[in-house]
Amino acid sequence: MIQKILIANRGEIALRIVRACRELGIKTLAVYSEADVQSLHVQLADEAICIGGPRSADSYLRADRIISAAEIADVDAIHPGYGFLSENAKFAEQCESCNIKFIGPKSKSIKMMGDKSVAKDTVKKAGVPIVPGSDGPVESEADAVKIARKIGYPVIIKAVAGGGGRGMRIAHNDVSFAKEYHVACGEAEKAFGNGAVYIEKYIEKPRHIEFQILGDSHGKIIHLGERDCSVQRRHQKLIEESPSPFLNSDLRKKMGKAAIRAAEAAEYENAGTIEFLVDAKGNYYFIEMNTRIQVEHPVTEECTGIDLIKQQIHIANGEKLAFDQGDIKFEKHAIECRINAEDPARNFAPSPGTIGLYYAPGGHGVRVDSHAYSGYTIPSHYDSMIGKLICFGPTRKVALERAYRALSEYLIRGIKTTIPLHKAIMADPVFIEGKATTAYMEDFLGRTATDLFS
Ligand code: ADP
Repeated sequence: MIQKILIANRGEIALRIVRACRELGIKTLAVYSEADVQSLHVQLADEAICIGGPRSADSYLRADRIISAAEIADVDAIHPGYGFLSENAKFAEQCESCNIKFIGPKSKSIKMMGDKSVAKDTVKKAGVPIVPGSDGPVESEADAVKIARKIGYPVIIKAVAGGGGRGMRIAHNDVSFAKEYHVACGEAEKAFGNGAVYIEKYIEKPRHIEFQILGDSHGKIIHLGERDCSVQRRHQKLIEESPSPFLNSDLRKKMGKAAIRAAEAAEYENAGTIEFLVDAKGNYYFIEMNTRIQVEHPVTEECTGIDLIKQQIHIANGEKLAFDQGDIKFEKHAIECRINAEDPARNFAPSPGTIGLYYAPGGHGVRVDSHAYSGYTIPSHYDSMIGKLICFGPTRKVALERAYRALSEYLIRGIKTTIPLHKAIMADPVFIEGKATTAYMEDFLGRTATDLFS
C-alpha cells in the first residue's frame, strides 16, 4: 500500500494532491525549484526537496533529479499532476523500473495516446468517430496539399506531438495552406522538438466536450460524465462546466459509451479524459485523449461527489473501483473559471509580480483551488494560472449566479487577473443561454469594451 507520495509538480495541483494525501493519511514529499521556495505546496507537504533552478528544464522536467529525490526520501509512488512529466512515457517507464509506482496509466497507454495520429487510428478501430483527416503525419508539402484538397477546406494543421493549444494553424484555400503549413511545421519543431504535422477537417464553431474516465487495474472502465470546455482563447480553455448545456441524454449516453470504447482500446488504467468536438448537428468526433488528471477535474468532482485524486491513488494501489457506471449520479451543475495572472484589458499580457492583498471567496457552493496568498510572488517561469474558482449548485442558473457573486468577492491586489473578464462572461446573455461554442471568445472580445476588464 502506498504510504508516501512524491508530487512531481507545483502550484495549485501540487497543493490539491497534498490535500488528498492528508485525508488519506499518506505522507507527501514536495520537490520544488528555486523559484518556488515560497509556494504553499512546499510549506504544506510533510517534506520538501529543492531539485534545481527556476527553469522547468532545470527542475520540474528533470526526471533524473526527481527519481533521485524519490529514492532519497524513500517514497512508494510519484504523482505527476498535469503538464511537466505527466504524459512522458519514458518517465513513467523509469518509475516502473525503479519500483516506484507512477500514479497514472501504464507507459504503453501513454505512448499510444500521446502520438495523436496513433491515438486516432486506435480509437477509429474501436468504432469511435474521428475528424476526417490524413492517416498519420503528412510526408511532404505536396502530399499535404493533396490531402487538404481531398478533405475539403477549411482544414486545420496540427502538430503530432502537440499540446496546450500550440502548433495549430487553419487554412481556407491552397494559397493560405502553403503559408500555414510552413508556420505549423516550424512552430511544432520549436515547441515540441518534433516538426511532424497532420491534417484534419476544420470543424466550424464546434463545442469542445470531453468525458472523464476512470479505469482500475482489474479491467473495469467507467465514465464520470462530460465537461463542456468550449470557452477557449487561442485553443486554451478558460471556463469549463458540467453538464454541458448542449447535450441531451441520448447524445450523452452515446458519447459516454464511445469514450469508454476509446479508453478500452488504450487498455486504460487510472484517470484520463477523452476529448471530442461536437458540431451544431450533434455529430461528435474524437480529437485526443489526455492520459493524466486535468486542470478542470474539480468540475466533475463537484457534480458527482467523487474525489478524483483519491481515486487515482486507490487505483494505483491496485484497488477495484468501488462503483459501477449505474452508481454515478449527476446531481449538480458545476462551473470553473481559470484565474490567470494576465491582463485581459491588454491582450492578456502576463502579469507576474507580488500579490498585495489576497482574499478568496467562500460560502455555499464555492470552492477555490489556489496556491496564492497575500504576499505571494508569482514566478515568471511557469504558466500564468494562479487559481481556479469552482461554483456549483442544483441548476446551471444557480451555479452561474453563484460564480458571478463569488467573482465579485474575489480580491487579488497588486497584479492583473482574468477575474473581471470572467465576471463579464457570467453576465453575457449568449453565455447564459448556453450557446457558447469554441468561436465564442473571439466574438465576445470583439463586441465588449476591454476597459470593462480592468
Ligand atoms: P491540444 O492538445 O493542443 O490542446 P486539441 O487537439 O485538444 O489540442 O485541440 C484544442 C482545441 O483546438 C479544441 O478544443 C478546438 O477548439 C480546437 N480544434 C482542434 N482540432 C480542431 C478541428 N479539427 N476543428 C476545429 N477546431 C479544432
